[in-house]
Amino acid sequence: MSENNSRGIRGVILDWAGTSVDCGCRGPAAVFARAFEDFGVSPTIEEIRGPMGMEKREHVRTMLATPRLAALWEQRWGKKPDDKDIDNVFGKVQALMPDVLADYAKPVPGCVEAIDSLRAKGIKIGSCTGYRKDMMSRLIPAAREAGFSPDCLVTADEVPEGRPMPWMCQLNCMRLNLFPPESIVKVGDTIADIQEGVRAGHWSVGVTRTSNALGYSEEELQKEDPEVIRRKEEALAKEFRGAGAHYVIGSIADLPELCDEISLAMTNGRRP
Ligand SMILES: [Mg+2]
Repeated sequence: MSENNSRGIRGVILDWAGTSVDCGCRGPAAVFARAFEDFGVSPTIEEIRGPMGMEKREHVRTMLATPRLAALWEQRWGKKPDDKDIDNVFGKVQALMPDVLADYAKPVPGCVEAIDSLRAKGIKIGSCTGYRKDMMSRLIPAAREAGFSPDCLVTADEVPEGRPMPWMCQLNCMRLNLFPPESIVKVGDTIADIQEGVRAGHWSVGVTRTSNALGYSEEELQKEDPEVIRRKEEALAKEFRGAGAHYVIGSIADLPELCDEISLAMTNGRRP
């Protein structure tokens, strides 16, 4: 009987970039920079990273709705950005994504081992992303080759609306036959991820160290002053908790231990 939750956590739903693969979420950041520059508008890295986690057309729309970028667009094109302009920039994003993302398929440190450990506990591995499926045509096989191959993948174009709506989580649960929602841990690296997990009724967990907000590659993480990293992680953890995160961990490497902790808490009656 699927509804029996005495065994605690039955599944996890993992975000892709910045959580499972692509430490620092660098692939999509590079694509957005190039796409906007093609239209003569140069966004800052903060403007690019702000809406990360959203479905990618929505990401473009949100960027062009900021006063600074809207003004730059108007300077360059003599009019405020409209739906057609959003479509044009998004078209460029869509064209660039497959090839660029293939270079950012490496699982974050400890990801492959964490998934092995979760599977050994009988926990199913779902996943979701703000990418559309066509953008992942080269990323999926490259990530599989590198050791990341979840049991289920739901992309933003499969549901009526991406994050922060909970539909991608719910479609994962349906495909993996996972129930009830409180037996699932949703893990992500952005505020939109946290809100999605909360809305889906899961344990919503944020990762800080490999996140979009910190933006460090694996090599940069090793070179940076640990105190600087610690302060940035602390600030991001506070933002995640403010958005409703039940737990915040450094990276997906900490997930198996956290799942044990949550399962134990559930035997004591705790719910998300
Ligand atoms: Mg992400």
